[in-house]
Amino acid sequence: MRVARNKVKYIFITGGVISSLGKGIAAASIGLLLRSRGLRVTVQKFDPYLNVDPGTMSPFQHGEVYVTNDGAETDLDLGHYERFLDTDTTKHNNATTGQIYYEVISKERRGDYLGATVQVIPHITDEIRRRFEALAKGGEYDVIITEIGGTVGDIESLPFLEAMRQFMFSKGRKNAISVHVTLVPYIRAAGEIKTKPTQHSVKTLLEIGIQPDILICRSEEPLNKAVREKIALFTNVEMDCVVDAHDVPTIYEVPLQFLEEELDDIVLEKLDLTCPRPVLKDWKKFVERVKNPAAEVRIAVCGKYTDHQDAYKSISESFVHAGAANNVRTNLTWVRAEDIEKDGPEKYLGEVHGLLVAPGFGERGIEGKIGAVRYVRENGIPFFGICLGLQCAVIEFARNVCGLARANSTEFKQTDQNVIDMMIEQKKVTAYGGTMRLGAYPCKIKKGTVAYRAYKTEHVSERHRHRYEVNNAFRETLQQHGMVFSGICPSNQLAEIIELPDHPWFVAGQFHPELRSRATRPHPLFREFVRAALEHSQK
Ligand code: GLN
Repeated sequence: MRVARNKVKYIFITGGVISSLGKGIAAASIGLLLRSRGLRVTVQKFDPYLNVDPGTMSPFQHGEVYVTNDGAETDLDLGHYERFLDTDTTKHNNATTGQIYYEVISKERRGDYLGATVQVIPHITDEIRRRFEALAKGGEYDVIITEIGGTVGDIESLPFLEAMRQFMFSKGRKNAISVHVTLVPYIRAAGEIKTKPTQHSVKTLLEIGIQPDILICRSEEPLNKAVREKIALFTNVEMDCVVDAHDVPTIYEVPLQFLEEELDDIVLEKLDLTCPRPVLKDWKKFVERVKNPAAEVRIAVCGKYTDHQDAYKSISESFVHAGAANNVRTNLTWVRAEDIEKDGPEKYLGEVHGLLVAPGFGERGIEGKIGAVRYVRENGIPFFGICLGLQCAVIEFARNVCGLARANSTEFKQTDQNVIDMMIEQKKVTAYGGTMRLGAYPCKIKKGTVAYRAYKTEHVSERHRHRYEVNNAFRETLQQHGMVFSGICPSNQLAEIIELPDHPWFVAGQFHPELRSRATRPHPLFREFVRAALEHSQK
């Protein structure tokens, strides 16, 4: 059966009642279902805050900054889109109020508005509308899913909702639909499921002129028929379109839950599309393994934001993917680097099967991380370092193996042994204000190394977000003492991957492999790290 591809179709996802209902997962899941039916789908996110991008926001507040291939610092929901849909997003997949105002104000300063009074309606809403369909221009997609951040009723999201109303009206009912994700709470004391918050949320949408086509009802327990009927009656949403999205053990089960609810058929019917049956064999196998693994491994993740696990979202998801590939569950224990400084590594790392030292910025806890690397290097425990994790491993090796006692990173301390330093090229960039190496760079893998056995290819591409690099002036010394540089960036000769061949598994990358791991296509280094941890656990 051929998929009709004459017109781009739009799905808007809004959220009601409270935040954190999993709009991003809902958007990614609908995307996956439509893709499994042969459609070319992308998902974009519009965020109502004034920051131009989340790059400057603290991970404590906003969670991880997700970096795309083209070097945009974006919202972590883009990570879900990439992991579920197994596609790359770009800077065009994320827009913020800050960016939109920036654009409009720049136009105003240039005189583009020819003396008109510049206002939220129509100038801001027009700019939002332009961006709603920016991804449609290249002809690459059949369906564009747009997630509107925030909660319906917030002052901040109003211009987005007004733009959405206008946009849907201009495209017509069969070309643009509205999906509202809402909460249906269970009140334990009364033993009852309550529909009132959902009714109110839909009323708020109706006030703005948006009638949702589909409701995704998040709840602790499955919704019964009476509850669905009641919601349908009070929201003008057909009963079939009141979708039950009760809690499931893993986010990766959500697409299968939606499939069960026939949400894919509902969406296709509303958008007037005819498609082949869904193909989800690999996904089902993956979910089955996530839920019922054959074994477990314990991995310590040492970092700075361990109380805010959203700060390491992509890392924990990468472990789910890599675990499934090895048919194990990876139990992560979060270790605060400062606790290692206080109590020593043994207490926290004595019982684990692997250590990952996480990315990060700033000096806090750095000696704890270096101490942790030393412990696992000396005790033959599998080690995986990411970005700052690589830098800690190089400093540790320089100090304790190469005898460079003052080895450090210029980020923390200026010494005559800055094995991690800002490279000349980067210094030039700094002078122009853009201070980080951001986005995808090529990496050439050296044959015969652990990295090559993982990737099984010589040419790969990985994403970066950092300022400092291994200082090439010390590479010779590090090599002489046994460190192997198994990945090098061919365009600038910077070290990308290091490893220690006389250790069971000791590998670190200057890039962020967690940004390239996909549910059914785990990152090779994560996959092999978990395999090494599994072997270590069986010793
Ligand atoms: N702070 C280090 C740098 O800027 C590492 C950054 C990171 O781990 N993402 O180079």
